[in-house]
Amino acid sequence: MQRTASPVWHPFTQHAITPKIPMIERGDGIYLYAADGTRYIDAISSWWVITHGHCYPRIQAAIRAQTEKLDQVIFAGYTHEPAEELARRLVEVTPDGLDYVFYSDSGSTSVEVALKMALGYWAHCGAARKRILVLENSYHGDTIGTMSVGERGVFNQPYEPLLFDVQSIPFRAAGREQDTLDALERACNAPDTPAAFIVEPLVLGAGGMLMYSPEVLREMKRICAAKDVLFIADEVMTGWGRTGTLFACEQAGVVPDIACYSKGITGGALPLAVTMCAARIFDAHYSEDRRKTFFHSSSYTANPVACAAGLENMRIWQEEPVGERIAAIEAMHERRLAEVRSDGRFENVRRRGTIAAMDVKVDSAGYLAGVGPKMLAYFQSQGLLLRPLGNTVYLMTPYCISEADMDLLYDTILACVGEVTGG
Ligand SMILES: *Cc1c(COP(=O)(O)O)cnc(C)c1O
Repeated sequence: MQRTASPVWHPFTQHAITPKIPMIERGDGIYLYAADGTRYIDAISSWWVITHGHCYPRIQAAIRAQTEKLDQVIFAGYTHEPAEELARRLVEVTPDGLDYVFYSDSGSTSVEVALKMALGYWAHCGAARKRILVLENSYHGDTIGTMSVGERGVFNQPYEPLLFDVQSIPFRAAGREQDTLDALERACNAPDTPAAFIVEPLVLGAGGMLMYSPEVLREMKRICAAKDVLFIADEVMTGWGRTGTLFACEQAGVVPDIACYSKGITGGALPLAVTMCAARIFDAHYSEDRRKTFFHSSSYTANPVACAAGLENMRIWQEEPVGERIAAIEAMHERRLAEVRSDGRFENVRRRGTIAAMDVKVDSAGYLAGVGPKMLAYFQSQGLLLRPLGNTVYLMTPYCISEADMDLLYDTILACVGEVTGG
């Protein structure tokens, strides 16, 4: 017997206390339309994936055209033009030094691939480097490997026996960043030199939209490079304009040894991911010794339809004024954030590019803060798709939002906090 009306088990959803799950029928630009007629403003880009807007006509057309030609083909030993062309363009637009593109189908998988590339590199170089350094409060996905390199806590406590050991570097913001850098330096200089350091550049997303400066990112890279600790940039969320530039690493002039991109890579329309790496990592696997093959694949690696969507996304970035749209959003945020900064009910008001975040002052903070579900229900009742991370409210809209809708988001957040905190 089912406890719920539907047999569907939703992600990150406690069904016992989730009142009603809206049935979404249609998406258009910034809006989602439910079967009951409700219109929602998608203020978090449907979990950080939609960049230009829902059902962006150019991307829809590219998908349609590709479905007429080739749906799917094995990618081991075969190739196709959408994957080849997308890879060439990715090498062009990403930091100079990321020379190879390995396709997969989700952000988590791209991180798993990155970790395997790093360990494979050292193994094939004949070095005994195995230790992975991670940053506190990080999130890299929900598979076993990505949970292992992410923050440990309520999310993964029952699965602890499956997770492998990593070394966590404390994350310190607001003037205490030097502590983070010193800890990283000590870890890199330890007698058993680490294999790699994995980091979300500039914004730790699921960890609570915690932000740090390009200078700190640059220092992290410098410290790793001094000991040749492979620098893995997880740009799964920060990529495709979210932080104001196409990729977050650009702001620090950092070239990662390995980088992961997904989410906005297709404009958010279809699942696709890539792990890109420096030539030396590919070269370490390049051998007549078949044991050095990179043993990784998933059935839908480089799916042609997803690649066609990714390719059209690249053309949109090249041909449309996406940068101007992003700058407009940044200006909208700044105009309204001034107000939030002077509102005593909020703290840690922050922004990086198109991402704005603010913490609602509560007695007990954290992901399970009671205020989170209350705010979520309030936003939903007001037709806003907003999903606070505990007591952290953040906005990460598609780039097509209007000034009026942005105002509505801020007005509703301010009203919501009055409602749920009684302030
Ligand atoms: C979302 C996210 C992932 C996981 O991506 P999925 O596509 O959900 O598997 C990995 N890293 C970061 C930084 C993310 O934000």
